[in-house]
Amino acid sequence: MNIAVIGTGYVGLVTGACFAEFGNDVTCVDVDADKIARLSQGIIPIYEPGLDTLVAKNMQAGRLRFTTDLRTAVEQALVIFLAVGTPPKEDGSADLRYVEEAARSVAEHMNGYKVVVTKSTVPVGTGEHLRRLMREHQKRKCNFGIVSNPEFLREGAAIEDFMRPDRVVIGSRDEEAIAIMRDLYRPLYLIETPFVITSLEAAELSKYAANAFLATKISFINEIANLCDKIGCDVHDVARAMGMDNRIGRKFLHPGPGFGGSCFPKDTRALAAVARQYGCTSLIVDAVIEVNERQRAAMVPKIEQLVGDLRGKTIAVLGLSFKPETDDMREAPSVYIIRGLLERGAAVRAYDPVAMPEAAKILPEITYAEDEYQAVKGADALVFVTEWNQFRALDLARVRQLMRTPKIADLRNIYEPEKMRELGFDYVGVGR
Ligand code: NAD
Repeated sequence: MNIAVIGTGYVGLVTGACFAEFGNDVTCVDVDADKIARLSQGIIPIYEPGLDTLVAKNMQAGRLRFTTDLRTAVEQALVIFLAVGTPPKEDGSADLRYVEEAARSVAEHMNGYKVVVTKSTVPVGTGEHLRRLMREHQKRKCNFGIVSNPEFLREGAAIEDFMRPDRVVIGSRDEEAIAIMRDLYRPLYLIETPFVITSLEAAELSKYAANAFLATKISFINEIANLCDKIGCDVHDVARAMGMDNRIGRKFLHPGPGFGGSCFPKDTRALAAVARQYGCTSLIVDAVIEVNERQRAAMVPKIEQLVGDLRGKTIAVLGLSFKPETDDMREAPSVYIIRGLLERGAAVRAYDPVAMPEAAKILPEITYAEDEYQAVKGADALVFVTEWNQFRALDLARVRQLMRTPKIADLRNIYEPEKMRELGFDYVGVGR
């Protein structure tokens, strides 16, 4: 099948590479000419494990190409995925300008029946809105189907998630479009992936609801962690006891500095905006957002409590990306924490295995270290912000010896408090 993917960010690039891997003929389109030039040379602009190999393999096989020429891509494609960004507006609602712009361009170049699929996370009603918008902008009147096919992949495990999803959601009222989508995803039938065929609106809402629910679990356990800190018990024990209940599940019950990234903060706010638009309340989602903001804001005071006056102190920060295995810095807790430390007069020396180039664009005022040990050398405290695997087995005796004062704020609870205290660290975690 001939496919066009509009937008080559985390989602578009993975979608394009994976559909090419399934044997389709895929053209990825972006307005960013620089990005397209680099991709055409096989240079992947983001860090996503396995993506470079998959892209190279499929480019070599002639099934995957990159272009700024949307017209040709649309003319040749039967299925067109919109995978452009939907950033938040000031009021929290999703900014649809990129989606609308892409949809208009697609409409202008339609030369026959096409299936237009939103992979971007879009508010309820966007599919129908795009149908009207595209009809207005068609130069040639041709039929087309509109499908919502939300993407549930996790950055850092995106390829595995795309190839082995828990489910595929296809929302549409166009029978022909649904049949084509089923055909496109046929390789996943072989591994018995469940398909949820719904209305456009239910598919659109399912993505926001899923992300808001996961964010709820995080804010919930963060609130319990803060209670544990006051009580003096270990939130990990509580989370384990809770999570073994199958109705609750173990995942996303890990306390920390609050959720970040390109999805949860934006999608919770967008869901609240959708509720407002429909005259409904969103009490739970509102609370999830507020708990997260408070959690984020509580991290610097936590560090301050450990270190004392931060003025003139050097703080080593390990981990910058919003989570491990990605270089994505969007809404990363590290940014809020580091800015708070700087405001209080501290100097920050940071290390991250992959996100330092991205971080330097946002945080040019801090020092970047070559590795973990260089970061902690002479530091007054060490703060773990992202739980990269390579931070889990540091040579702690060496760390202790290198630091000016052995103080650790472990905001991801990667070490055991008792062990750390035995090793001579002044140690604080989250809810332990
Ligand atoms: P991104 O910002 O990484 O990439 C968007 C790309 O679209 C950019 O390369 C941009 O240049 C391009 N673009 C913008 N307007 C364009 C146009 N008119 N024509 C062609 N290209 C255009 O975004 P992302 O993280 O890949 O997210 C894309 C969408 O997928 C968002 O709606 C997001 O909420 C959703 N989503 C993201 C994730 C994730 O983990 N990142 C997961 C699931 C869903």
